Amino acid sequence: MRNPNSNRRDFLSTTVSAGVAAGLAQGGFFSAPTHASENRKLGVALVGLGSLSTNQIAPAFLKSENCRLAAIVTGTPEKEKIWSEKYGIGPAHIYNYNSFDKLASDDSVDVVYIVLPNSMHAEYTIRAAKAGKHVLCEKPMANSAADCRDMISACQAANRKLAIGYRCQYEPHHVKCVEMARNKELGAIKMIEAGFGFKIGDPKQWRLNKQLAGGGALMDVGVYALQACRYLTGEEPSSITAQETKTDATKFAQVDESITWLMQFPSGALAYCSTSYNFNGLNRFNAFTENGFMRMDPAFSYDGNRMETSKGKVELDVPDQFATEMDAFAKCILENKPSKVSGEEGLKDLLAVEAIYKSIETRASVKVVA
Ligand code: NAD
Repeated sequence: MRNPNSNRRDFLSTTVSAGVAAGLAQGGFFSAPTHASENRKLGVALVGLGSLSTNQIAPAFLKSENCRLAAIVTGTPEKEKIWSEKYGIGPAHIYNYNSFDKLASDDSVDVVYIVLPNSMHAEYTIRAAKAGKHVLCEKPMANSAADCRDMISACQAANRKLAIGYRCQYEPHHVKCVEMARNKELGAIKMIEAGFGFKIGDPKQWRLNKQLAGGGALMDVGVYALQACRYLTGEEPSSITAQETKTDATKFAQVDESITWLMQFPSGALAYCSTSYNFNGLNRFNAFTENGFMRMDPAFSYDGNRMETSKGKVELDVPDQFATEMDAFAKCILENKPSKVSGEEGLKDLLAVEAIYKSIETRASVKVVA
């Protein structure tokens, strides 16, 4: 049977090879590649063994310098056997959703990586923090800003670090664009056009269930375009106007199919964004500056992203994005430094997402309030 997510995966993974230097960990937009000071691998418990865990994250452990797969959490007994054989996970380190809290006494686990449907991120982040573990949680951080705040509070109360799986913030082309934007190499950003979407398959999947997904294309992939505008400008949107279009009211009865939105930033910069579950090919940003432009197309794929500026093409080696992201978090833990993809960063995305949905509902411009 065709995997219902395969069209999404094929779309995200484009043709160009992933490059070299796996394990290159970048701790900040401006920092040179560094290695974690402590020479040990942190143990990670992977929660939810679906498409992303199977096809991207598990292979990334083999390229990681500072993380190793130490435990799994799954509700599917058949996966226990497959994963224990393939990755050498002993029975003492295999958990299900009922036994999850026993992770507290598993000393081989430092970090819990949550790769579940969006609505489950808050519950399992909070339970992981209470079990005394650091948390790496996939995007979008949660279904609501209120849940994001609860997740941040739980990690603070447990004195554990929380990071969100914003892999693009470690992708070297994105890092380069941000560096150029901050240095105003091409002048200030005036306008960004950004979009990410794909044609979604199986109508029964959780991504089309509002309770599990929190929303549709916007929550799933629109957040990449939204966040790119935030990190390119280095600003938070002050107001947002959005509109939604549906061509299939049955398939998209519960969640958004296509959304376009306009964001205004305090500097006067504008961003015009789009997202859709209705067609392939939308995967780019184009930032127009005072003296030129910088663009990526594709921009948000696992590999094969391409960058060009008004000065010419920029081609950089792209290490495995998931290994880089995990190593960067491990470095934050080992060196007790803040993560640039913190829970607060996830919360800011959700505040903008909520403003977008409110603008659609009220047909008015909405102020984004922190
Ligand atoms: P998936 O459907 O392939 O896997 C979800 C997993 O959760 C499955 O193993 C499933 O068994 C488990 N699960 C537990 N309870 C469930 C329930 N009630 N309903 C449905 N599944 C349940 O999804 P995925 O593509 O692996 O996405 C998981 C998370 O990762 C999502 O939050 C998604 O946004 C995120 N993601 C991030 C990226 C990225 O590039 N960073 C890419 C894909 C997905």
